[in-house]
This record gives sequence, structure tokens and C-alpha cells, in this order.
Amino acid sequence: MSIELINLWYVAAAALFIFGLKQLGSPATAVRGNTLSAMGMFIAIAVTLLNKNILPWEWIIGATLIGGSIGAVVAQKVEMTSMPEMVALFNGSGGVASLMVGWAALYNIDNSTFTNITILLSIIIGGMTFSGSILAWGKLSEVMTSAAVVFGAQRIVNAGILIGMVACAVLFCLEPSVSSPYLYAVIGLALLFGIMAVLPIGGADMPVVISLLNSYSGLAACAAGFAINNNILIVAGSMVGAAGIILTNIMCKAMNRSLANVLFSGFGAAKQATRVEGEVKPITADDAFLILEAAQSVSFVPGYGMAVAQAQHVVRELGELLEKNGAEVSYAIHPVAGRMPGHMNVLLAEANVPYDQLVEMEDINPRIDNVDVAVVIGANDVVNPAARNDENSPIYGMPIINVDQARTVFVLKRSMASGFSGVDNPLFFGDNTRMLFGDAKQSIASVVAEFKGT
Ligand code: NDP
Repeated sequence: MSIELINLWYVAAAALFIFGLKQLGSPATAVRGNTLSAMGMFIAIAVTLLNKNILPWEWIIGATLIGGSIGAVVAQKVEMTSMPEMVALFNGSGGVASLMVGWAALYNIDNSTFTNITILLSIIIGGMTFSGSILAWGKLSEVMTSAAVVFGAQRIVNAGILIGMVACAVLFCLEPSVSSPYLYAVIGLALLFGIMAVLPIGGADMPVVISLLNSYSGLAACAAGFAINNNILIVAGSMVGAAGIILTNIMCKAMNRSLANVLFSGFGAAKQATRVEGEVKPITADDAFLILEAAQSVSFVPGYGMAVAQAQHVVRELGELLEKNGAEVSYAIHPVAGRMPGHMNVLLAEANVPYDQLVEMEDINPRIDNVDVAVVIGANDVVNPAARNDENSPIYGMPIINVDQARTVFVLKRSMASGFSGVDNPLFFGDNTRMLFGDAKQSIASVVAEFKGT
């Protein structure tokens, strides 16, 4: 295949990536976006392997079928709540692939200094992405402690590893060779650095770290692209790198935390929120039904507890019953509700909630005082008014859904326990708040039963 033809195919693949990425922006087009991007990736891989006859057609098709089948089975089996773990493994695979591509490129004897630098970058970033991702997977799947592992002089040790790695990389560049001991030192230190960087981060912050590692896996692939002079690898790597860092930024902003705070602090250790006291007003499912039956507008605000209870299907059922009863129904989505980006969107899509009923935080807040009943389903931090009012609160400044400004608020949870951030929630004591204690799925099912008169 001529170089012009190959590049033409690469342009087609890059266009598919870009259109695919664009369509991932809305749940309605996301599946098509995914398919387009996958087609782009197939073209990119097939063209690369056909070039210089690296592999014959039959092998490419065979390998695609085997790999595709394994991917399809794993994707079908994985629980929604385990998705970050799966992404961690994907990132780790991307990292180790870049490490190996970089390493293999060293066997080219006429590499320029620039090429050697890009090779080292793909080895270093790929290596730390690999070990960091495996550790992130271990923390999320709880095969090891998910707590932040912190010890004295940790930052000094990490700085030492970083300096040692850079020094070995420079020494390698002065006399590059596949058998250079500095190469092995760089690989070892990169793997060690990935582990050390993720160790002090707690399990609940892992989704942010995984998004960052996703970005690193892109950068490693981009560097590998320069190392072997492959245009599509550079394009795809840059896109993954940029998308990962944008998502990381969105998540940090939605939590009102800096990336440095996520990476280096024991979360919430610095500040102690003002303690909240007051009278809690519990409500039964029967009474909740009576209020909902009279409501003209109802907004569901789901959070992590909805995922734990797997309440999304009964929530959709209640939404339909309310609509039939004449109420306007919406689902207000906070960007970091749950434990991974888009967590609530995915659960509600799985339950076939119509996309046009999903409302973003910025759109619901200006009109929340017209909502008759805001039904908070296992959400806590993302509706905590302390983020707006209490300067001492660790979550002060985090944008929230202002459910306390709705006419009536139902909070569905099992106890008075705090959420991810560990801070009390004054919402529970509000004059217009009623607590419907119990597992969210059971509570909603009881209200649904009342509606159906069973
Ligand atoms: P929270 O963690 O603040 O609160 C969840 C609540 O759900 C708990 O208070 C718990 O109360 C309740 N709950 C648990 N199980 C059930 C159940 N079976 N039935 C009913 N309620 C239940 O969740 P939010 O979604 O409000 O906030 C997400 C938090 O996670 C934010 O602090 C965010 O910064 C953080 N985060 C989010 C990420 C993301 O990408 N989405 C990534 C990293 C962190 P109880 O035990 O009393 O039932």
C-alpha cells in the first residue's frame, strides 16, 4: 500500500474518531458514536497491519473476531457499578502496549535523539499508567485496601523516584542501546512511580484518578506514535489525552476541588464542618403517596444510593404513574452524583427513562422553587446546602442541586449517615424536608404500590 493511500485511510479513521466523540456527548447518540469510533479503530489497525504486509487479511479478521468476542462478553457481564474498574484495566492495557511499542522501537538502530526521547516518554508514561491503573483497579475491586495509604516522607520518596527516573533517562539518551542498564532502571522506576502515585489516594477518589490515567494512556500512545512515526497513533493518542484531562477537570470542578487536592490530600482532613442539629421529620410511604398524588411537578434527584439500591426501574415506574396522574416529571442530574462520570445518566438510560426528562443542574436550579416535590433518592453531598452556606464545610463551594428551595423535599435513605464527603447535611432538618427512611428501592416500590392501589 502506498504511503498516500495509508494516510488517506488514516484521515478517514481520524474523522470517524472525531464524529464518534462528538456523538458521545448525548445519551441519544452515544451508541452510534461508539460504533463509529470502533469502526475508525478497526480501519486504523487493519491499515497499519496490512502496510508492509505485517499480517495477512485472514489473521487480522481472525484476531478481530477473537478480541471482539472477548470484549463483547466482558462488556455484557460487567456490572454498571464496576465500570470504573473495567476502564482502569483498559487504561492499563493501553499503557503497557505503549511501553512495549516504545521498547520495540529501540531495536531500530538509526533513531534520532528526538525519536529516542519520544521512545523514553512512551516507556515512562506507559509504564506508570500500567502500574497505576492496576493499583487503581485493585483499590476499586477491593482486592487490596481501598483506603489512602499514607506514610511519613512519602512525598520525599516519590520525588526521589522521579528524580532517579529522569536521571536514568538522561544517561540512557547519552548512550542509547537496548541492553543499556539505564533502560531497565527507567522501566522499573516508571512502574514503581505509578504505584507510589496512586497509593495515597482513597478508593472513592479513584474515578478521578482513572480519568487522569486515561489521559496518560493517550499521551503514552501519542509518544509511541512519534516513536514509530505513525500518524493515526499520534492523532488517537492526543484525542484520548485531551478527552481524559477535560473529563478530569470537569469532575474536579463539580467537586470544587483542585486536582492537587484529589491527588495529594487525605480528603476532608483539613476542615470540620459546623455540626448540624435539629428535628428530623420522618414520613411513611402512605403519607408520601398522598403528597405526591397532589403534586403538579415532581423532580427526582438521584445519587449514589439509587445505584446501591438498584432503584432506577421502580423510579421510572413511579415517574410514569405521576405523569399519568397529571404531574410534570423531571430527573435532575448532578455531574458527580454517584461514583463515576455519567453514573446517573447510565442507570436511568438502562431503565428507559426518556432523555428529554433528564435536566442538568444548571437548568433545574433556576426553576427549582416551582417544583412541588423534589424526591432525593440516595443522594446526599450533591444536595447538601452546607456547600452553599457553610464556609467551614469541606464541600463549601461545590455546586449543588438546590432541592432545599423546592416546596417539599423527600429524602430517601436508610439512616442519618453522611455521604462520600463525611459531612452532616442540614437539608435533613429543613422545615420542608421529610425523611423517608429505608432502602430506596423498597421505599419507592411502596409508594408505587399505593398508586396502583395494591
Ligand atoms: P453520597 O455519597 O453523598 O450519598 C449517598 C447516600 O446514599 C448516602 O448518604 C447513603 O445514606 C445513601 N444510600 C446508600 N445506600 C442506599 C440505599 N440502598 N437506599 C437508600 N439510600 C442509600 O452520594 P451523592 O451521589 O450525593 O454524591 C456523590 C459523592 O461522590 C460526591 O461527594 C462526589 O464528589 C463524590 N464522587 C463522585 C464521583 C463521580 O464521578 N460521580 C467520583 C468521585 C467522588 P444511608 O447510608 O443513610 O442510606
